[in-house]
Amino acid sequence: MADTPPSRPVRTTTPRQVRPQTEGWTQAKDAEGRPLLQFASPKRGKPPVHLADLTPAQRVEKATELGLPGFRAKQLEKHYFTHYTSDAAEMTDLPASGREELVAGLLPPLLTEVRRLQTDKGDTIKFLWKLHDGALVESVLMRYPGRITLCVSSQAGCGMNCPFCATGQAGLTRNMSAAEIIDQIVRANRLIRAGGLGAAEHPDERVTNIVFMGMGEPLANYARVMHAVRTMTDQKHGLGMSARGITVSTVGLVPAIRKLSAEEIPVTFALSLHAPDDELRDELIPVNSRWKVDEALDAAREYFEKTGRRVSIEYALIKDMNDHPWRADLLADKLNARGRGWVHVNPIPLNPTPGSVWTASERGVQNEFVRRLNAAGIPTTLRDTRGKEIDGACGQLVATEEDEKAAEATPA
Ligand code: SAH
Repeated sequence: MADTPPSRPVRTTTPRQVRPQTEGWTQAKDAEGRPLLQFASPKRGKPPVHLADLTPAQRVEKATELGLPGFRAKQLEKHYFTHYTSDAAEMTDLPASGREELVAGLLPPLLTEVRRLQTDKGDTIKFLWKLHDGALVESVLMRYPGRITLCVSSQAGCGMNCPFCATGQAGLTRNMSAAEIIDQIVRANRLIRAGGLGAAEHPDERVTNIVFMGMGEPLANYARVMHAVRTMTDQKHGLGMSARGITVSTVGLVPAIRKLSAEEIPVTFALSLHAPDDELRDELIPVNSRWKVDEALDAAREYFEKTGRRVSIEYALIKDMNDHPWRADLLADKLNARGRGWVHVNPIPLNPTPGSVWTASERGVQNEFVRRLNAAGIPTTLRDTRGKEIDGACGQLVATEEDEKAAEATPA
């Protein structure tokens, strides 16, 4: 007699929205059962010291050490931050004798381009860079009407281990130096000026906005990230960018958020929340085991109070995971409980990552999530995703095997 198939329960009602089993994924834990988080950067050889790692006074000192008058440092600043060049041959205003040594001493090469991918329209470019020790990082350049945004990496890899983010799955290789962060911008500016982001040459155009949303957790590399931010905004000795155009995004390292609030640099602050309740956020953002939703939101509110800058809440909408109407309502309640007009929410449909069991929320569910927040008085706009087809979108930045091979074939 043939086996009878197991009978299936017949569904008579619409299913309640519940969290699905996160099949195939378990949180990596340490010996004591806490989620695996890496704050300390593994010891690796340090990248060479570069002009952009130094204060203006230290640059002068370094030029003097190299046996040249201090004002040569100012000339190098101009070449690097204004002409976007590190090539001694282009610096004809410097005397030929000692020029090579000066450039080698203050503008050592930091990023070797391994690959460049661009979208069909040519308005989004992803760079794969190799660092001096072979570590790989990416940056993504995007042209929008009226602005050019560069998404920069602050660490090679990331230690925060968020399960829906490709970078988080790969672990932390090391912190990037301030100059390695800055050089991503200088290299992008050089390309824009040469007409590489759109057809014609663009002599006056450059990156106007920076988002720390590439690889890494910027606040886990605090000092170097802050030095980089100061160099970006320095009008006399740096890139002369506006602080408002710089967005620092974090998983929610509360003590570092407090420190950032006290810096008096009015950057835009973004908190990657992704869930309004600790039960789910513990799972999505492992660092929530240290700093809970309410603590992170209090720190974000404090950032607004100290700086007057409206903060952003990032929320990747994951199907049947965090996209329930009740979670939109709970988020609105928690934000409204901390005052009005201090925050806006930026949901983004989850971008696919290799091997992930999760997908983006359905369109209707996304719209309902946004509608509920707006109805509760929280300005909310669905973020547009760029660069998906070149794996350059949020959460997709990770060095693949193909990248590793290309990097090996690239001379330093
Ligand atoms: N570590 C920082 C910055 C890097 S990630 C942070 O977490 O904020 C930049 C943003 O992309 C974060 O909000 C992050 O949560 C989000 N992100 C990560 N993976 C994503 C994915 N697969 N789809 C959409 N957004 C994602």
